[in-house]
Amino acid sequence: MSKQNILELSFEELRDFCTNLSLPKFRAKQIWNWVYCFGQKSFSSMTNLGKGTIHLLLDKAYIYRPEIESIHESSDGTIKWLIKLEDNALIETVFIPQGKRGTVCLSSQVGCTLNCTFCHTGTQKLVRNLESFEIIAQILVVFDHLKEWPSAKSNRKITNIVMMGMGEPLLNYENVKKAIITLMASDGISISKRKITMSTSGIVPEIQKCGTELGVNLAISLHAVNDDLRNILVPINKKYNIENLINACKNYPSLSNSRRITWEYVMLKNVNDSKKDALELVNLIKGIPSKINLIPFNPWPGTMYETSTQEKISIFAKTLMEAGFASPVRQARGDDILAACGQLKSLTENRKKNLNKII
Ligand code: SAH
Ligand code: SF4
Repeated sequence: MSKQNILELSFEELRDFCTNLSLPKFRAKQIWNWVYCFGQKSFSSMTNLGKGTIHLLLDKAYIYRPEIESIHESSDGTIKWLIKLEDNALIETVFIPQGKRGTVCLSSQVGCTLNCTFCHTGTQKLVRNLESFEIIAQILVVFDHLKEWPSAKSNRKITNIVMMGMGEPLLNYENVKKAIITLMASDGISISKRKITMSTSGIVPEIQKCGTELGVNLAISLHAVNDDLRNILVPINKKYNIENLINACKNYPSLSNSRRITWEYVMLKNVNDSKKDALELVNLIKGIPSKINLIPFNPWPGTMYETSTQEKISIFAKTLMEAGFASPVRQARGDDILAACGQLKSLTENRKKNLNKII
């Protein structure tokens, strides 16, 4: 029988696992504590378990850590990991420090099926959902690297999570949900729902579920203010159009001025960056507690898009501000390490292909 991966288990499942091994229930709490409060990777160092229990666990279970293909540190403090999973699939995890806040950007899938035309992840061929343990493992890798154990220490560098890495999290909702529940657990990583943001291209049926079951913040990758353009930029719009999406957002639970929806809007030169677009955007989200995040397009080799000019971005931002929105233009972080969605992975794969050709 293959060994049980402990990261695969919710707390309740860990309790059942212990019971099946004829271990008392309190062992589950001790193991959970070692794994998520102290970052232990081996049962051998779990000193309060007793030798017999340690031997049994070594025989029956393991604590997963993925292989790290490469780590890229940017001069602005952004760190990006290219992580190799058990089937050799590659995913990315990014840590972005911003003053007292430190955000970990997690991937939810290998690649993405949705093929947004400006996104590099959408061009990758291999696509599969990540298991919940593969989502959890990403953050454990960041804790390991930053020496953030024990997780309850004060002035923690890791304070926020965004589901903005590779993949569409709401197309892998059950696994993402299981991972987030583990990451929110107060006796462990303990990141509250107010510090977690789900970014989606607009999988309408799952939006409501996400709000009621997890209560995390919502970010919508809008990028266009009319269906004709959004059908091209974000093709899932053909299934869930702007009207459906806006209605789902209006009904998102517990929205308030302190709990707003973030609208992500990638600035594409002469595509969606006119003053008229900005005015239509204002009109579209009227009445919804909102923040707007203007993202300068991060170009990648072979793309047909260009980044909007500084001038266009300023006019767009000013139009939004005049309508009462604080509209921060997202700083391109980790530019020197290609921190945008899917880029590091593709680069590595291309490099490998080239190497193969040479060899
Ligand atoms: N699939 C989810 C989450 C991952 S993408 C979603 O689409 O929301 C995270 C964010 O990065 C999205 O807002 C996406 O539109 C944006 N993005 C993707 N490629 C980009 C690029 N080349 N430049 C700027 N932003 C990009
Ligand atoms: Fe997928 Fe998001 Fe990229 Fe669209 S922007 S292809 S949904 S990862």
